[in-house]
Amino acid sequence: MVTPYKHEPFTDFTIEENRKALEAELKKAEADFGKEYPLIIGGERITTEEKIVSYNPANKSEVIGYVSKANQELAEKAMKIADETFEWWRKTNPEMRADILFRAAAIVRRRKHEFTAHLVKEGGKPWKEADADTAEAIDFMEYYGRQMLDLKNGEEINSREIENNRLHYIPLGVGIVISPWNFLFAIMAGTTVAPMVTGNTVLLKPASTTPIIAYKLMEVLEEAGMPAGVVNYVPGSGSEVGDYLVDHPRTRFINFTGSREVGTRIFERAAVVQLGQKWLKRTIIEMGGKDTIVVDDNSDLELAADAITYSAFGFSGQKCSACSRVVAHEDIYDDLLARVVEKTKEVNVQDPTRHDTYMGPVIDEAAYNKILDYVEIGKQEGRLMAGGTGDNSTGWFVHPTVFADLAPDSRIMQEEIFGPVVGFTKAKNFDEAIEIANNTEYGLTGAVITNNREHIEQARQDFHVGNLYFNRGCTAAIVGYHPFGGFNMSGTDSKAGGPDYLSHLMQPKTTSEML
Ligand code: NAD
Repeated sequence: MVTPYKHEPFTDFTIEENRKALEAELKKAEADFGKEYPLIIGGERITTEEKIVSYNPANKSEVIGYVSKANQELAEKAMKIADETFEWWRKTNPEMRADILFRAAAIVRRRKHEFTAHLVKEGGKPWKEADADTAEAIDFMEYYGRQMLDLKNGEEINSREIENNRLHYIPLGVGIVISPWNFLFAIMAGTTVAPMVTGNTVLLKPASTTPIIAYKLMEVLEEAGMPAGVVNYVPGSGSEVGDYLVDHPRTRFINFTGSREVGTRIFERAAVVQLGQKWLKRTIIEMGGKDTIVVDDNSDLELAADAITYSAFGFSGQKCSACSRVVAHEDIYDDLLARVVEKTKEVNVQDPTRHDTYMGPVIDEAAYNKILDYVEIGKQEGRLMAGGTGDNSTGWFVHPTVFADLAPDSRIMQEEIFGPVVGFTKAKNFDEAIEIANNTEYGLTGAVITNNREHIEQARQDFHVGNLYFNRGCTAAIVGYHPFGGFNMSGTDSKAGGPDYLSHLMQPKTTSEML
């Protein structure tokens, strides 16, 4: 029997011992800078000439490491091995596969601060955010391991006197896992271990800005007993290796998390039946968000301002769940705006290796330029209340930015900026606030701050997002507590960290035997 699932606690860095532990690991992480990392295909380490360079976004001159880059030939080799491995891996005992995840979770837990330190450096995450990312990676392993044990005997169906009927789940085949850089550990790990524990084999293509954490996961899985060939590590360019693997006729499914642009491209390409392909590819595609916090007239404005500030600027607004729009009732609009502006001005923006950092850098130069371009658009569309500047002298730092008086259909209120920028708009009443909240093409997260019970129930029905929160911020979903995924152009709503997730990676088979 395994113990019941509960989420990994977050580290309290006000305790000196914890602070010292992470500081020591940050030093150790620096000692590893500039190392080379090979591909891992069928357990074999393969070094290529061409490299992906992983930089510290807080300090452009620091190279975290050099990662070998797969080409199409190596992607083909990985596909062949994953395909062959699937033939026996699919028949393995689910308990054995779940045990690998429980051991992997234990390994990461024991070395928690080492992973967190790496995330501070490779992802530019402040301590709190990096610690939460590590905790979530552990949670995915613990949760999906238990989910597999729940599903291993299939579902109850009816039998009759003349026949014995069963429904059980079988894995799909070779899956391509394509992960984003923002939850560089948690999402990468979750989207990889779920297909693995369900009996599929995996080609893991991590984001090119953060490939090293995925190498570290490979080492953990190997140490936990994962056989060679089950998960293969093939970092490479999206357009070269990504397209090649998405198009491949032996690809059975694609598990993608990332932008709307790349997600829809993968969705379209995966729909094309290639020569020799024997199935319709399954796609799990989780994409961006344009997430709104609605603040009612009868509400706790201090709570609202705290929720908005943290949801908008935690990890520099680089969460798919980040609050990028506020819709406030006209009666409290000015008061709320003033409170958020005041709190925004208190946010410090500095190197995330410092324990008191609220906001670190954005991920790279492209993100930095894109966000500052949006700031210019915002100045045309609304009133700049705070921030609006960047500092790229050492790393990619953007100051937390607030725009007021935006039209609901303005670009700042419609397009995913993926940076520390939040826009405010006014609503006459709660009906109008919900209407504005729903008027984007996305539908990922949202929050309502109100003391009005009727309005809570109205939002529960009408606010069309995959994750809706009341009287709190719209980020920080926890595995097993807040299954995560969005509607509309936010994706296929697979609900990562929820009880239905593993069923997307398997197919049910009915057997009926005459008695
Ligand atoms: P991205 O779409 O740029 O990249 C995601 C992954 O796709 C990377 O590994 C990238 O290398 C790969 N890729 C790029 N082109 C490809 C191609 N042609 N074929 C195959 N793969 C390709 O996204 P990102 O910048 O890494 O992440 C940020 C985005 O992810 C934001 O839009 C954010 O909202 C979204 N996101 C969504 C969720 C969610 O659960 N819905 C969670 C985290 C992030």
